[in-house]
Amino acid sequence: MDQVEEVKSKVDLVEVISSYLPLKKMGRNLGGLCPFHSEKTPSFMVSPERQVWKCFGCAEGGDVFTFLEKIEGWDFREALEELAKRAGVKLKFFEPTDKSQIREKLIEINKLTVKLYSHLLNNHPAGERARKYLTGRGIKKETWEKFRLGYSPDSWDTLFNFFVKHKIPVSDVAMSGLVVARSGNDRSFYDRFRDRLVFPLADSRGTVMGFSGRVLDSTAKEAKYVNTSETPIFQKGALLFGLDIGRSAIRDKNEAVLVEGEFDVLSSHQAGVENVVASKGTALTDKQAAMLSRLAENVVLCFDTDIAGDSASRRGIELLDMAGVTVRVADLGSAKDPDEFAQKDPKGFGAAISKASNIYDYLIDSAVERFDPATADGQKKIGREILPILSKISDDLVRAHYIEKLARVLGLDVGLVAQAVEKKTADLGGGPTASANGGLHGVNTTMEDYFLALFLAGDKVVSRIVEMIDPSDFSGEAQRLFWKAVRDIIKHSKSNSPAKIVHVLPKDFNDFVDQLYLINISPAFSEKELWGQEAFKTAREIKITSLRRQQMAIAVSLEEAQKKADSKEVGRLTKKIDELLKQRSELEQI
Ligand code: ATP
Ligand code: MN
Repeated sequence: MDQVEEVKSKVDLVEVISSYLPLKKMGRNLGGLCPFHSEKTPSFMVSPERQVWKCFGCAEGGDVFTFLEKIEGWDFREALEELAKRAGVKLKFFEPTDKSQIREKLIEINKLTVKLYSHLLNNHPAGERARKYLTGRGIKKETWEKFRLGYSPDSWDTLFNFFVKHKIPVSDVAMSGLVVARSGNDRSFYDRFRDRLVFPLADSRGTVMGFSGRVLDSTAKEAKYVNTSETPIFQKGALLFGLDIGRSAIRDKNEAVLVEGEFDVLSSHQAGVENVVASKGTALTDKQAAMLSRLAENVVLCFDTDIAGDSASRRGIELLDMAGVTVRVADLGSAKDPDEFAQKDPKGFGAAISKASNIYDYLIDSAVERFDPATADGQKKIGREILPILSKISDDLVRAHYIEKLARVLGLDVGLVAQAVEKKTADLGGGPTASANGGLHGVNTTMEDYFLALFLAGDKVVSRIVEMIDPSDFSGEAQRLFWKAVRDIIKHSKSNSPAKIVHVLPKDFNDFVDQLYLINISPAFSEKELWGQEAFKTAREIKITSLRRQQMAIAVSLEEAQKKADSKEVGRLTKKIDELLKQRSELEQI
């Protein structure tokens, strides 16, 4: 096995993709919203069995390497190096590329920065004001140490000089996002963080990727928070503050509490709520939603701002819902933010988290409070706000439940509200309910491919179906060749299971089989009897289409024969058409 194959066999495509977007089980595949084009309903599919992915909306697809190349903008070598590192494979013939060297350098620079700033906060006279500030806000030393907080002194070059002392090349420091170039001079820099409390922003494993810094002086004119500027390892929206520390509590509780700010996280921890992370004041991004959905099935939103009217929160909520996460909203009462609540009433804060209400109850209740459901105008406004949200609920039962609730509070007929929700779904380009006819296969998949995918999903070969469909019944060449190969194997080896057939198929068919595995088959068809019905129904449709196609071809010849007055040929072709028609009507009657 070559090293590329070795790396590929040691990483799991599902795990890799899951770190970028939430995936949800859909039959034997996993599906999600495509990261490569904008869409409202999932057409991005991943096959764990074949380790391939494909988007049925934008037709992108491939393996784990192509996924990373596309999403990270890497070339093949960079993707290989990164995966080799994760899989613990030492690549023999490669020197590390610039990019992975840069990554290592920046991580090293961040480590040094944590060292300097935490030393200044914890042990240095210069950190006195920062220590006082933290204590004044009720933060304990053990808490700020746990989060590796630091203090950047009121100076233009402390950090820069620290790097110089540690012999870090200026060209590397320049890339760190921690210093700012003086205008007109690209070799002269000053520290980005000055007189600020500094929060390391780490990935889930605790590797520090960047920093945020809060002013100490409340009268300062500068922004309250500044972050490391974008670097090759630090992108806004790719991290959650506190994830490294809160991770195990989130796992244990199967629940993550999502707050806005750094201080919300610190104070929550002190109140005993440790399964908490901060989005840092922005709407939840795809990446953040993916990280959360991999750790827990429940997320409690605990925001200062009211999310009811906030469209930016919607996408995050949809993403979490899509990934099967139950989203709830905590009531902060009169507190300004979780920080204030947790400091004033630690017990009450914990209770408010456990009492959080379901997001859809919350959104409906909030709309009803703002608009009067007894008036036509109020109903219209409530509908306008809530219908699009309900239409995106991915679980049929949950959606039905809230349709009923909305109907109740509006005093309207359930059927009517359901209709309005379905209409919204249709407006959005076919939502979850469009899957009633067997899943996503209709999106961009032909009946022929769907039939073959169904065939492969069966656990036994059904001879009635195999005999019914001839290779020539397929209009596609690839399908025809594939089916011929399959029938040959069945004939010669008497193999009775599609899995075994796939195993002995010539390698040339690999790509084609990948494509078939990616076609979604509704989980309903994992039940044998239903699968049999669906497979037969699809086979029949293919046969009928094929008969119709043959009939049309013969009709053309017939017309020519008639023009030439070739009565013998006319007779032969007419008989043939009759024969096809008879076959068709027999099939149509089953
Ligand atoms: P603190 O608790 O630090 O006094 P706050 O509760 O007033 O702050 P908000 O203004 O509500 O904080 O902001 C919430 C979060 O948004 C902050 O913790 C920070 O992560 C982020 N944030 C706020 N202002 C900025 C900014 N100017 N630039 C970048 N991020 C910011
Ligand atoms: Mn706040």
